[in-house]
Amino acid sequence: MASETRPSSNGDPFDVSRIRADFPILHTRSHGKHLVYLDNGATTQKPRAVIERLIRYYETENANIHRGVYELSQRATDVYEEARRIVARFINAAEDKEVIFTRGTTEAINLVAASFGRKFIREGDEIIVSALEHHSDIVPWQMVAEACGARVRVIPMNDAGELQLDEYAKLLNSRTRLVAVNHVSNALGTINDVRRITELAHAAGAKVLVDGAQWVAHRPTDVQALGCDFYCFSGHKLYGPTGIGVLWGRRELLEKMPPYQGGGDMIESVSFDKTVYAGLPNKFEAGTPDISGAAGLGAAIEYVESIGLSNIAPHEDALLKHATEKLGEVPGLRIIGTAAHKAGVVSFVIKDPPMASLDIGTRLDAEGIAVRTGHHCCQPIMDRLGISSTTRASFAMYNTVEEINTLANALRRIVADEAARRKQSAPAGASAHAPAAEILYAPAAASSPQAAADELADDFDLFEDRESKSEYVIDLGNKLPHTFDMLKAITTRVPGCMSEVYIVTRRAHGTSDRIEFVADANADIVRGLIAILQRIYSGQRVEEVLAFDIEGFFRRIGLDQFITNQRRTGLAGMIERIRHGAAALAGQPAATA
Ligand code: PMP
Repeated sequence: MASETRPSSNGDPFDVSRIRADFPILHTRSHGKHLVYLDNGATTQKPRAVIERLIRYYETENANIHRGVYELSQRATDVYEEARRIVARFINAAEDKEVIFTRGTTEAINLVAASFGRKFIREGDEIIVSALEHHSDIVPWQMVAEACGARVRVIPMNDAGELQLDEYAKLLNSRTRLVAVNHVSNALGTINDVRRITELAHAAGAKVLVDGAQWVAHRPTDVQALGCDFYCFSGHKLYGPTGIGVLWGRRELLEKMPPYQGGGDMIESVSFDKTVYAGLPNKFEAGTPDISGAAGLGAAIEYVESIGLSNIAPHEDALLKHATEKLGEVPGLRIIGTAAHKAGVVSFVIKDPPMASLDIGTRLDAEGIAVRTGHHCCQPIMDRLGISSTTRASFAMYNTVEEINTLANALRRIVADEAARRKQSAPAGASAHAPAAEILYAPAAASSPQAAADELADDFDLFEDRESKSEYVIDLGNKLPHTFDMLKAITTRVPGCMSEVYIVTRRAHGTSDRIEFVADANADIVRGLIAILQRIYSGQRVEEVLAFDIEGFFRRIGLDQFITNQRRTGLAGMIERIRHGAAALAGQPAATA
């Protein structure tokens, strides 16, 4: 086994600057600033050892595995099976055969849900998940429950984001077949007592799956000591490549479970009369697997072992403590998720002045700071806490106290700027609290959508780079009247948007063939997009609205340079709502007003 610690030149067992030197991407820039990468919960960066392992594989070892008689194929097979041994040792599996390679955590959970579900879950049975689960550990169980006539029950959590184990104990009964719970919550950082959860489940005769996606890179894993039945994780959150992950399962259980997918490599023999499945682990690995990914994952684990999780954990704990203190001091910021036991995740919202996480993330991005915003694939947590999203900083071994200070200082500036901006625009607050939407419907900005688009395109031509274009969009949004609360009360949210967006369309007052609309969102950049759509569409003839090539216009102003794909989906949702309103008007008789 690789040595547990990596002594630095100054004798400190953990030298973060030496570790950083191993990660080429940490020395790149984002928007001209030093990259501060704090989105490790989503994926970690890769050390040179992993990158070079992939290169070596493709330069000297690449062939398909298990099937070739020639040397190269044997070499590739050895690489793949060696990776399995490394994983087995890393998580202390009793046997290599208990390690199944998958595409990641999501596929591992789907494998268990489909296969264990088919074999062991019947009508009237129950599956327990926790309120803290990622969608990957909710939806597959809902699908199984629907297919089998079973029921999904939920372990509740308290306001701090801790599971209520007394309530959990009450949910367990003789119908419970399986309990699925994460080791660490990706949204809040809560560390769950999976050993206790497993003991209680086993006492009730239920099996336990642990989603270790957010654990394995941060603390040592011992599946035998945990006592659970299945454990899964993704290579890419463990400094390894994307596309490779692990399902560990107890041999006796895996042997009883039917294959998940059929195909090559998972069979002993095939005929049209009878197919005999291969034994473990091949039974669950149909088709050509991610051989290079396995090699890369093996290299990642060896890299982590060379530093030592016993050194990584205290470093990350210190980062968490520092971040909790520093961010907690930022005026108006509230940390979401205050469990007594947490791993390196700080989720937060800014309440005063109220700011959408999307705007916080966008502004941090401009400073080279990468954080995640949104519901983190955990909508039930957001619903439980009465929020729609958070901003999340999540740490890895290469993060530093200085990076956290950079984040905290940036947040202070962002909050101060926002407060100043709101103060400045306060006199316009008359419209911000307008009692009726009437005056807020935007009149036509030009004689046609095309004429309005031409004017806007001329404005955009004045800006050369993406920063100034995106600032211009935000500026346009700042001029939009605040109608958010009013619209929220009277209409439904536009689907597909990362932020909350509301749009109300109607026939333009006093016209027979024109549409007008009022809209608002809780993110500044989206308010800017609304302002653009209003200029183009509002007050215009419905035929022209429907005929106008909005995509062409966005291409013309170079929107894709400064609007992410996700936001473009949201934008498409808004356009759809407006066009839908126009189409409905086109089919109606002329107005009498
Ligand atoms: N579970 C948890 C707790 C996670 O954090 C994630 C990734 N955010 C997943 C499951 C899904 O992992 P993947 O997308 O790698 O399959």
